[in-house]
Amino acid sequence: MLKKTDADAIEEFGTDESGIYQAEGVEAVWYPQTEAEVAEVLAEANRSGRLVTTSGGGTGITGGRVALHGGWVLATQDLAEPMARDCSRITQNQFGREYCIYLDEENAEVYAPAGIPLELLGEMLPEPLLYPPDPTEKSAFLGSTIVTNASGARTFHYGATRDWVLGLRVVLPTGDIVAVSRGEVKTADGILRFTAESGTEYTVPVPTYPMPEMKNAAGLYSAPDMDLVDLFIGSEGLLGVISEARLRLAQRPEEMIGQIAFFASEDDAMGFVNDLREAAKSGAMTVLSIEYFDAGSLDFMEYEPVEGKGYCAVYCEAAGSLDELDPLLEALEAHNCVEDWFAETPRDEQEQKEFRHSLPDAVNSYLRRHGSQKLGTDMVVPPDKFPEMLANYRAAGEAFSEQFPRDGKHVVIFGHIGNYHVHVNFITHSEAELSFCKGLYGKLAQQAVALGGTVSGEHGVGKKTILVNGRSIPYLEVMIGAGGLMQIARAKKAVDPNLILDLGNMVPREYFANV
Ligand SMILES: Cc1cc2nc3c(=O)[nH]c(=O)nc-3n(C[C@H](O)[C@H](O)[C@H](O)COP(=O)(O)OP(=O)(O)OC[C@H]3O[C@@H](n4cnc5c(N)ncnc54)[C@H](O)[C@@H]3O)c2cc1C
Repeated sequence: MLKKTDADAIEEFGTDESGIYQAEGVEAVWYPQTEAEVAEVLAEANRSGRLVTTSGGGTGITGGRVALHGGWVLATQDLAEPMARDCSRITQNQFGREYCIYLDEENAEVYAPAGIPLELLGEMLPEPLLYPPDPTEKSAFLGSTIVTNASGARTFHYGATRDWVLGLRVVLPTGDIVAVSRGEVKTADGILRFTAESGTEYTVPVPTYPMPEMKNAAGLYSAPDMDLVDLFIGSEGLLGVISEARLRLAQRPEEMIGQIAFFASEDDAMGFVNDLREAAKSGAMTVLSIEYFDAGSLDFMEYEPVEGKGYCAVYCEAAGSLDELDPLLEALEAHNCVEDWFAETPRDEQEQKEFRHSLPDAVNSYLRRHGSQKLGTDMVVPPDKFPEMLANYRAAGEAFSEQFPRDGKHVVIFGHIGNYHVHVNFITHSEAELSFCKGLYGKLAQQAVALGGTVSGEHGVGKKTILVNGRSIPYLEVMIGAGGLMQIARAKKAVDPNLILDLGNMVPREYFANV
């Protein structure tokens, strides 16, 4: 098995897309090609007490794959083939390796390896089959999207990753391997009991904190009758390395329409969004996604027809043809749409796609040019609390602008408004600004929790900390308290007795002292 110890290899895994967290004291990077090799690395680390941090594509923005405490990095990029199955084998070469999936077309299921990028998985599936989870970063690997319970624009219609995972193979931190399908292992008396392939039994105390009933990627999953598969989904690497997954597939809609509508006021845009949600709920239209871009976002995107006019925009995708869009056309008129842009040709579609994806690129290139830093939120609140939370976001943006006046490029609010989940990006230009915005961020997280929401809808919490009343605390603590973190620590200790794997995600290392 390939192992690298040179500075370049180690440097490659030194951070993630956050650019904030930095690995320290990494000794080596391992590149297992099979599940057995993953087990070999973990068993050796467990014996020798070395820390291991698992890495996927590195598009995470919470430092999840960053080895803060040194040790070994386990790169999953070469996990390109699942175990052989009695169904169609499909292969494709990319990045100098052969990727393989096994497709059970009759049951619309696929077995796929942890290291496959989602974009490639999509390409390998024959039409009209579709694996719906679609975080914007398509270079993200399947394994990581499972442990972060990733979502995307079309989560509005299809749900998050959790809804599409039928079974998993996982290498536990001890090197034991577990294969589990949904329905096989359920919680009894607050405990998940399961047996690894080696015959070793594991007994995991299931966390008891309440889970918010919304899009959520914060904390280990918790439910009284929960399934073992759900414990691993969203576990941010704490409980084991996913080696492969059995996934449910959907049928791609025969026809799809993309539409971007521009509005002169946020109230009009919100009215339009509400009408779209209602049309989806009543079945009048099959709405796949509803995404929001505020005026600050449009300024960053430099879309000429509306640039500088203070407009905001709503992007939506619907299944069906132009003749099936009456509710959409009525909503455009009812809410004073000032300009609409339908994608009717493949070229329009491509342009709209570029438009939608240009925001993160525009923000990132601005940050690079100005040496600035961004703080991005990921909170979700219940539907009836969203207007209040949006007002909180706006107030935070105004507080920042008042404290540090500057022309434009301060705050952008955008994202998955269909799911009541928008991101606020504070663009900061100095340590003083960053520190001020950290305070605002902490307040927003507390407000979201007080409204019954979650601190993370899709990114996970990784190694994030926030400032609350001037004190830096683990991000997740705001939502589930120090007691909740201890419950996660206990669940982890049950499968990772020597605390070697992905230490620091969700729960800081020092919290394990009393477990
Ligand atoms: C511009 C931009 C837009 C984004 N938009 C979205 C979005 O819309 N929705 C969304 O959900 N996310 C989004 N993200 C975040 C990110 O893409 C997701 O969190 C993604 O799931 C990370 O995948 P990765 O392969 O890059 O993982 P990494 O960053 O490499 O790792 C993420 C975590 O997974 C763990 N891990 C990796 N592989 C395994 C494995 N096989 N077994 C166990 N643990 C493992 C790592 O230890 C780490 O904790 C965005 C990121 C960027 C930069």
